[in-house]
Amino acid sequence: SRFERKNIVSLLRQVAALLETQAIMTSIRILVQGKEDALYILCDENQIKQVFINIIKNAIEAMPDGGDVTVGVDRIGERVMIRVTDQGRGIPESQLARIGQPFYTTKENGTGLGLMVTNKIVENHNGAMRIESQVGVGTTFTIELPV
Ligand code: ADP
Ligand code: MG
Repeated sequence: SRFERKNIVSLLRQVAALLETQAIMTSIRILVQGKEDALYILCDENQIKQVFINIIKNAIEAMPDGGDVTVGVDRIGERVMIRVTDQGRGIPESQLARIGQPFYTTKENGTGLGLMVTNKIVENHNGAMRIESQVGVGTTFTIELPV
């Protein structure tokens, strides 16, 4: 893989635009928020885009009746924090530990591979991922990457 200096805000906007059509079909808005227009990280562009695609797709799939996916991106010290929040069904506490295990899916046509791949890519970038979720309220995926 090729690591280059890339503007992560612009990569997020590109992925949001890519998924817009799918989102609109189920009455979902994807809102990208943040103070900065440019935050640079050393990354493999295609892998990092894949991470955002996986997480935003999951957010869309968690809201069959529509809602907002809010994507926040900010710099905190030497880290870039990306937060993807949905207003979906949430993840029960009892399932949280299984999220990201190979082939773990609750979807009829799911592969259960998206978050496993996501975890691998985030690790390759010396980053970290956290999940916070409340059943019936929604889920937030936080990804931290070094600037
Ligand atoms: P898949 O999407 O193919 O099921 P993933 O690895 O992307 O595989 O996700 C695994 C499981 O994690 C999903 O089946 C779902 O149960 C849960 N999940 C992931 N993201 C969310 C979310 N935003 N809201 C609720 N559940 C989620
Ligand atoms: Mg998925």
